Amino acid sequence: MKAEQMEQARQLLQEIYGYDSFRPGQEQVIQQVLERIDTLAVMPTGGGKSLCYQLPALLLEGVTLVISPLISLMKDQVDALRALGIKGSYINSTLARQDVTDRLNAVSAGDIDLLYVAPERLGDERLRRALMQAGLAFVAVDEAHCLSQWGHDFRPSYKEIPAWIYSFQPAPSVLALTATATPSVAEELRNAFDIAPDHSVETGFARDNLTFHVVKGADKATYIDQYVKRRQQEAGIVYTATRKEAEALQKSLQRKGVQVGLYHGGLSEEERRKNQEDFLYDECQVMVATNAFGMGINKSNVRFVIHASMPGSVEAYYQEAGRAGRDGAPAECLLLFSAQDVRTQRFFIEQSDAPQDRIEALYGMLQDMTGYCHTDGCLVENVLSYFGEQDVSACGRCGNCTREGERMDRTEDAQKVLSCVLRMRENYGKTMIAQVLTGSRNQKVLQFKLHTVSTYGLMKGTSAKIVQGFIEFLLAEQYVRLTLDEFPKVKVTPKGAEVLRGERRVEQFIEASRPAEVSDKLFE
Ligand code: ADP
Repeated sequence: MKAEQMEQARQLLQEIYGYDSFRPGQEQVIQQVLERIDTLAVMPTGGGKSLCYQLPALLLEGVTLVISPLISLMKDQVDALRALGIKGSYINSTLARQDVTDRLNAVSAGDIDLLYVAPERLGDERLRRALMQAGLAFVAVDEAHCLSQWGHDFRPSYKEIPAWIYSFQPAPSVLALTATATPSVAEELRNAFDIAPDHSVETGFARDNLTFHVVKGADKATYIDQYVKRRQQEAGIVYTATRKEAEALQKSLQRKGVQVGLYHGGLSEEERRKNQEDFLYDECQVMVATNAFGMGINKSNVRFVIHASMPGSVEAYYQEAGRAGRDGAPAECLLLFSAQDVRTQRFFIEQSDAPQDRIEALYGMLQDMTGYCHTDGCLVENVLSYFGEQDVSACGRCGNCTREGERMDRTEDAQKVLSCVLRMRENYGKTMIAQVLTGSRNQKVLQFKLHTVSTYGLMKGTSAKIVQGFIEFLLAEQYVRLTLDEFPKVKVTPKGAEVLRGERRVEQFIEASRPAEVSDKLFE
């Protein structure tokens, strides 16, 4: 029976979709879903997650419910299904009342194989009745990471999904899908849906056609303008942290003659739709957007994604950057970093009314994201180990792998910083530590009597900015960490303690093109 159904699945793959073979992970997921095994599928963007629920929906009795937060895309997704001859439908808040009733009737009558709804819809009793009448094949939870309090995109309505599913007797099986899950988020999802570890299908996060760079200290508008002009005729997305920044950047690129679209949550639905279509159909070369843009958008030939500001988490970054190169051809992902970006993200967190433990999680994610910007090692390695992959080797392509320069021993400098952190009782932030080390007579230093600690002035002659940059490096490499609150204090980690005891050496890569760091007396 099992083999027979898989054979049918393979046939449908060819007949309906015109594909010869499954992508990694697809076959296993489909097989498990056909066997009604609760499954978690973690596959990268563009990995082919939709097929994992569409194919079984055609083979199993009853209606398959797809829960998705992407209301604005449901129509397109269903239109695409209909074009393939699949009986899809959706119900969301954009429909008129009568239309909803008609669609529910079609579900009850067994005329629908795949029904898309947003999680908010689950409270509708009419939906439940229609599903019970038709019989539920299984439930696919798309963008499942939205359920996790520890993830970057928590949506409270997602929290209600498991209880809703288990209120059916017997409960339907579940397929949870996401492109972005750290080990702890994946565990939370498995717990929520009672998924056995063996039933997780994770195909790895690596995207071998993407090349990553972090650019520091650039004038952002000029840099982006020059970059975009070098890559004429190629489509790209520029992400900003705020709507205001998006608008300013769009105007400045437009003035310079770039064909550029704009997308953010403050535009009307009509404007957003038009701008998105212009970009999808290559009417404009570049889309400047906030993170409101891109989820579920399937433009395969995006050749570059530039982040004009750092996002709040590695998950968000990798998901947004991952919209480049979905066709598998080479593409570039750039992050333009400035210290202000960290302040902007901290501001967002401070403004949030989330509970305390969620706030701490957000600060933790921000710290990891900042670490990516300051790491010395391979950028891909940094991201993949963040997602829990082990034994990753350096990509050999990213900005850090390809820059020229040499590794220098910084153990002594690290020891100076670390002992200063301890002398200051791990009670101060980066700026104060840098000021004490450089012997500043700043009012606060005097007020807290920090000029009396023994490490005061230990790095005199070096600018506080350079020392602060070095502390960022120590943070990125986890010799120190920050407390997860509004006024982060620097603490020494066990790895840092090993350096202090002389059991571990610290090396930093010094770029040939940036000799200032070397000449700035840090090595005297
Ligand atoms: P995801 O939701 O994981 O980001 P999609 O489901 O949108 O990805 O799939 C990305 C693209 O890959 C789509 O254009 C889809 O048609 C295509 N695709 C999916 N499975 C296969 C396959 N087995 N062979 C070839 N192309 C595939």
